[in-house]
Amino acid sequence: MKEQEKTKKTAPADGKQLKKDLQVDFPNLWDRITDDDRERVMAFSEDYKTFIDMGKTERSFVAVAVETLENMGYVPLTGQDHFEPGSKVYHTIRNKGLVAAVVGTDDAALGFNLIGAHIDSPRLDLKPLPIYEESELVFFKTHYYGGIKKYQWPAIPLAVHGIIFRADGSPLTVRIGENPQEPVLTITDLLPHLGAEQMSRKATDLIKGEDLNVLAASLPFADPELAGRFKLGLLQLLLERYNLKEKDFVSAEIELVPAGQARDVGLDASMIGAYGQDDRVCAFTALTALTSLETPARTSVCLLFDKEEIGSEGNTGAQSRAYEYAIQELFVRISEPGRSQLDFARMLSRCQMLSADVSAAFDPTYASVYDSKNASYLGHGLCLVKYVGARGKSGTSDANGEFFSKIIRMYDAAQVPWQTGELGKVDAGGGGTVAVYLASLGMEVIDCGVPVLSMHSPFEVTSKADVYYTYVAYKTFFEKA
Ligand code: MN
Ligand code: MN
Repeated sequence: MKEQEKTKKTAPADGKQLKKDLQVDFPNLWDRITDDDRERVMAFSEDYKTFIDMGKTERSFVAVAVETLENMGYVPLTGQDHFEPGSKVYHTIRNKGLVAAVVGTDDAALGFNLIGAHIDSPRLDLKPLPIYEESELVFFKTHYYGGIKKYQWPAIPLAVHGIIFRADGSPLTVRIGENPQEPVLTITDLLPHLGAEQMSRKATDLIKGEDLNVLAASLPFADPELAGRFKLGLLQLLLERYNLKEKDFVSAEIELVPAGQARDVGLDASMIGAYGQDDRVCAFTALTALTSLETPARTSVCLLFDKEEIGSEGNTGAQSRAYEYAIQELFVRISEPGRSQLDFARMLSRCQMLSADVSAAFDPTYASVYDSKNASYLGHGLCLVKYVGARGKSGTSDANGEFFSKIIRMYDAAQVPWQTGELGKVDAGGGGTVAVYLASLGMEVIDCGVPVLSMHSPFEVTSKADVYYTYVAYKTFFEKA
């Protein structure tokens, strides 16, 4: 440094301004939204609550999504051989997954913009032979699905959803307990007066898997001499009301979920409480982003997966090639004839994807498991997550810096709020998403989603502002990425 410069007097920098310029800050959205924005936020959350009340399981979500799409002019993808830009198509994956798309004006070979979310949530499934009688009560045996805290499931009203096939193969769609006039089922818990031994157990054993027995009936068959007459009473009811026999449960897919509707949470009604917002909040916002598009430049695709909560296995999970083939079915119908498998592989590598899944919102009551400097916060918008995983990032896709940077620049240019965060403290636990399975096809993928409190509980909580601005962010991605 020259002597002259050293002695030159410089004005002290404006610390406040410098801080603003140099430090990253993710503002609380409620501070910055206008009255008009607030109205949009509130209206959107009403639509969201209505939709997730109708689609509480993967099957019902697909059913209500297909109905919605058909009403908006979407047609079956495999119904015709060619689609022009602006065409709206959908394709279901065995009634449990869904692929919906709007064909863009760009050459299909340039790749698609995809947003993928999952529509299965932790729950209790009925065992193949669930019905038993004990002490004049009839119960259903269950096998839980996904990561639950088992102690959260007794002593709450449960609704029954699913499908059951009669002896002749005819399906019966089951939905009992959502309408206030309908009965619910429940799992009994021990009264505290006699709970001394139970309460001394570790929380993982407080309610054991085999204790998740659902109280199903208590009316006996009218023959006091007959053994097993309480179970028979229920079987008789099932036959008379639904033409069902015990054997039909063997192949049935019956899911027990918390009964009741999504509710506003907080005296200011700023939040939403509902079962299964992981990940239907991202599924709904992604699907709504798609359906609100005008004809985009890049072909825009919404993927809704089943089985994420148990590892994305099976032919309806994200690991299934069914989704890749559905993308290919779309590619061949919107690209020039004669494209090869290599052309398709090249197209996949040019795809950009948001793996849309919820993040764990910072909970001050359990602050010790979060890194508060790298956590997502309720009310601060879509959380962009570079990686998830466990034990040193195992099982994550880890978005490329080039792609992550592009997404951030896109959102900043469009003034779409976002934040970033990790799942929790290093080695506090971990988790995975579908990102790895799509990334294995060669496309760019980043995880992102709505922050959730009480994740995987029967009553998960989100911020209405986050839900709406996640929709905005997903739509922006389809339009501008
Ligand atoms: Mn999830
Ligand atoms: Mn989950």
